[in-house]
Amino acid sequence: MEYRQISGIQLSLLGMGNMRLPTIDGTPQTAIDREKAQAMIDYAYAHGINYYDTAYRYHGGESELFIGEALKKYPRDTWYLASKFPGHMTEHKGNGVLGFTSMLAGRPDSTVDGIFNEQLRKCQVDYFDFYLLHNLNEKSYDMYVDEEVGIVPYLLQKKAEGKIRHLGLSAHGTAETIDKFLTKYEGIFEFVQIQLNYLDWKLQNAKAKYDVITRHGLKVIVMEGIRGGRLANLPEAEMAKLKALRPDDSAAKWALRWLQALPEVSVVLSGMTTYDQMVENVDTFTHYEPATPEEQQVLDEVANTMLAWVPCTACRYCTEGCPMELEIPRIIAAYNAVKNGEASAKYSLEDCEEAMDPSRCIGCGSCAGICPQNIAIPDIMEQFAGMLSE
Ligand code: SF4
Ligand code: SF4
Repeated sequence: MEYRQISGIQLSLLGMGNMRLPTIDGTPQTAIDREKAQAMIDYAYAHGINYYDTAYRYHGGESELFIGEALKKYPRDTWYLASKFPGHMTEHKGNGVLGFTSMLAGRPDSTVDGIFNEQLRKCQVDYFDFYLLHNLNEKSYDMYVDEEVGIVPYLLQKKAEGKIRHLGLSAHGTAETIDKFLTKYEGIFEFVQIQLNYLDWKLQNAKAKYDVITRHGLKVIVMEGIRGGRLANLPEAEMAKLKALRPDDSAAKWALRWLQALPEVSVVLSGMTTYDQMVENVDTFTHYEPATPEEQQVLDEVANTMLAWVPCTACRYCTEGCPMELEIPRIIAAYNAVKNGEASAKYSLEDCEEAMDPSRCIGCGSCAGICPQNIAIPDIMEQFAGMLSE
């Protein structure tokens, strides 16, 4: 296993994300199949992975419970746990009381202290090794800097008490928003977690974000390195280009080797769902072989063919609130496939199951504003329904 550092701590370059764990009925983000997931954690630990990432809302709140239970059989000083404060899904109701919004709507009101202590309890730990503000973006910025709520001062206090060892943030905001935030809190945060892969380098302007973060002297943690699995399944023509160079390598391995070539990346999180993915990814980071400049050039060409894709990462933030119970990320994947001429013959409105029928979208807008990729979901549904009815 390859290791890199944040603030002098040796971290496995491959980190275990706990947002896409195996589930009992196979539906992403639902009840975790604990037996399968535990087997993956055991394999990860045995093969040198020491960084485990979770968050308040993953798997409806079960991810924190699971990972705390899964890791506790191993000595506390042999693994690092990261969780996140869900400020992007809260609103200030006054006097420090926070109401939950979006996917967390309906939970009882709490406070910054209440949420943080709940997380410690759920994870069965006395302290978090790494703790992040979850999803800094243009909408959550005001909450995170709100002096009356006082999230950052509270976390600094917890750091002084030893309940947080290292502070960072995850961000889906623009490079400008990240820059503004890091400038305001210069010297406080040690790392930033961003969506980074060879497609988003251009598509989501990740290069500018990487440059801003490293200019502030901070390390980068990668999320969505394989873009929610999309970069593991390339169009045939693009895959052929990669196979011509390395016949035995998967598309996922190419994506991960591209990330290994970035020197300021300290951890590449992979939200693995199957044991086989775990085994393959561990192998990729054990036989460390960053992409060469020539290989990076080939991936750049592959990325250029995909810049018109709707950039869904299948995070499923949007699905819980959809009154029509549409399988939004799967519909968008089908839209991309049809647009790219991969699936037109196989997809028609008459044949598709209800949850996959974009014409059932009522344009209610419940999904609007939730998507970290800023996808105009109702517009896509309308366009796709129009394309299919033609
Ligand atoms: S706008 Fe359409 S896709 Fe979005 S939540 Fe409403 S019905 Fe579902
Ligand atoms: S549309 Fe947006 S919120 Fe929904 S799964 Fe895709 S990336 Fe996530």
